[in-house]
Amino acid sequence: MRGEEPVVVEALKTRALPEGSCDKLLEFLRLYRDAVQIVVDRIWSINKKLSRRKLHRLFYSDLVSTGFRAHHAKEIYIYANSLVDSARSNGGRKPVLRRLSARIDKYDYRLDLDNMTLTLKLHSDHEVKLKLVTSRDRVEKFRGWSNYEIVVKYEDGEFWVSVYFRRAIKPVKPRTVMAIDLNFDNITLAILTLDGRLVKLKRFKTPYRKILTRRIWIERIQKKYSSSWRFIRGVRRTIERHGERTRNISWDYSHKVGDLVAELAIRYRSAIILEDLEKLRENNKRGKRFNKKLGLWFYRRIQFCIEYETRERDLEVIKINPKGTSSKCPRCGSKLIENENRVLRCRKCGFTGDRDVIATINLYKKYVSKHSRCGVSGVALNAPKPNENPSGVQGNRDEAMKNTPSCMNSYES
Ligand SMILES: [Zn+2]
Repeated sequence: MRGEEPVVVEALKTRALPEGSCDKLLEFLRLYRDAVQIVVDRIWSINKKLSRRKLHRLFYSDLVSTGFRAHHAKEIYIYANSLVDSARSNGGRKPVLRRLSARIDKYDYRLDLDNMTLTLKLHSDHEVKLKLVTSRDRVEKFRGWSNYEIVVKYEDGEFWVSVYFRRAIKPVKPRTVMAIDLNFDNITLAILTLDGRLVKLKRFKTPYRKILTRRIWIERIQKKYSSSWRFIRGVRRTIERHGERTRNISWDYSHKVGDLVAELAIRYRSAIILEDLEKLRENNKRGKRFNKKLGLWFYRRIQFCIEYETRERDLEVIKINPKGTSSKCPRCGSKLIENENRVLRCRKCGFTGDRDVIATINLYKKYVSKHSRCGVSGVALNAPKPNENPSGVQGNRDEAMKNTPSCMNSYES
């Protein structure tokens, strides 16, 4: 299943001050850039895909003989190759490098978190020591993480480094499951115990309409001035301002939701289930009203924040194909019909419920059936009444499904 790689990656980007002269570092960055350019030029002229081994054979010894270390050489040809690859796949021109920037492998630098220094191994056995200009707090966060690659840049007279860290996570053993259903105007979240009892139901409103209105407005303006809006300063500025405001609204909102979800998930020790958006794209779940491209963009952002905040706290995140989750009866599996506003009813067994709540329960069921060795038969759910307010609904224990907890152990590893 996707989304289960138990690793978190994060970059620490900070300004860095060379101790003593920066001549050698600048010289290194220039050599590095020029070497990447030479390799780019050659790969471009060869005009076919090259394997790692082939790249190595073509460029390694030349690069090393100009004074680069073994891993510098490797980084250079891999980077050059990736530049050519992406230029070609975009139908672009041959890349021309201007900026001074180098990717450096973990074998060619030493990071000292205690003293906040970075020692770089440069060409021809030169070394340079850099002081990281950042707060201790930002650095402390990465203690115990493992660092791998760094990027060093020279920009407007200053050196910048990005250190990439990763950390393996050991997911917390879940006691409950939190299923999250993203919608046009709300996010519905249900927490269920491993034996199928609903313990919490919550709904957040989204600022989606606000965003949509701005987007539609922008599109209309762009259409009206279709060929000229880029060149009319006032129009372009207004569009940029609205675009920025939209981005801020959606990021602010996503961060808030990510935090809230993570807090709840910690309190209930939940494994988090999200809809797999790649599958959603194919399913056409939201019907005509749903502006697909726009919706996905917003959903992705929310999911990104939820994933980020929860993984950071060592919680497990699982993505499930949402196909059928808002159209099938969670009790008998028949197709549901829409009764009235948001309420769905099963004609076969009489089950009724809020559409979004049903979606979360179906997500939960899919998760359970995938992760339990003996399968789950006849999940009798204590679904809330259709007119009940989902915020903080307490589960009704009478209808709790009968299921031996031992069945569920298989996914706790
Ligand atoms: Zn039914």
